[in-house]
Amino acid sequence: MRAQDVLRAYGVEPNKGLGQNFLTDPNLLTAIVERCGVEVGDRVLEIGPGLGTLTAVLADHAKRVVSVEIDRALKEALGAMTAGRNNVEILFGDFTKMDLDTLWREHLGGEPFKVVANLPYYVTSTIVMGLLESGLPIRTLGFMVQQEVAERMMAAPGTKAYGALSVGVQYRCEASIVMRVPRGAFLPPPKVDSAVIRLDVASSPRVAVEDEKLFFKVVKAIFAVRRKTLLNALSLGFGLPKDKLSYCIESCGFSTNVRGEQLSLSEMARLTNILRNSLA
Ligand code: SAM
Repeated sequence: MRAQDVLRAYGVEPNKGLGQNFLTDPNLLTAIVERCGVEVGDRVLEIGPGLGTLTAVLADHAKRVVSVEIDRALKEALGAMTAGRNNVEILFGDFTKMDLDTLWREHLGGEPFKVVANLPYYVTSTIVMGLLESGLPIRTLGFMVQQEVAERMMAAPGTKAYGALSVGVQYRCEASIVMRVPRGAFLPPPKVDSAVIRLDVASSPRVAVEDEKLFFKVVKAIFAVRRKTLLNALSLGFGLPKDKLSYCIESCGFSTNVRGEQLSLSEMARLTNILRNSLA
């Protein structure tokens, strides 16, 4: 069944607050699954199955699909869309509040897996960063996101789009936009165009960081006040005296006037490693 038929048949009104913009075109759904690299033997985690149209295509391509949906009002429609596919498990709950380790062990067999989702746009960064920081064996992530968010994930240092999300994604993954999707492909159409971004997770982070928690703390401190100098941002973020921090910044070969948003991934890693040693 197409999304519009499911909506009508089950009397479902899309819930704007939950980011419910449903995909309608079966060819588009198949293309998403293929370009996200889903293969026959894969275990797939889907966030926000909605009416289950993408879920059904995922189930036809993968070994097992576990989908997490917040909206219980969609239960009947989802059940009907996935009926007869015994490799699908639907869980109801707020994905952002779930313990990902338990979800992985109890529902994905504790095995490596892939993620595919047409994400609810109000909570994209939280979901993406939560998955990337989970430490779980994720092979690839394929997300439908706002085009502008896909561009942020791929942004280069010093550009307006470069931020904590760019660094978080690029630290672990090779990112590529595999499809651009016009707003008219959704029901109802959102206010912005979208893109499918594929993140291939590297076997180890792309830069060497001695303390990952500290690295992300540095990144967050930098982008919390992105127009301030690196020195001011770190002093505010860490509550440390500027003379100690100036020494670290200069030891990295940077001027204390540099803004953190100008630093590349490897420069942020170098700074974190020097900070770690001098804070110890
Ligand atoms: N996958 C469907 C499709 O492609 O047509 C629906 C995608 S729609 C953009 C996003 C879905 O995420 C909605 O079904 C919404 O109810 C669900 N959702 C929103 N917030 C969520 C959350 N915190 N946890 C799990 N699902 C959520």
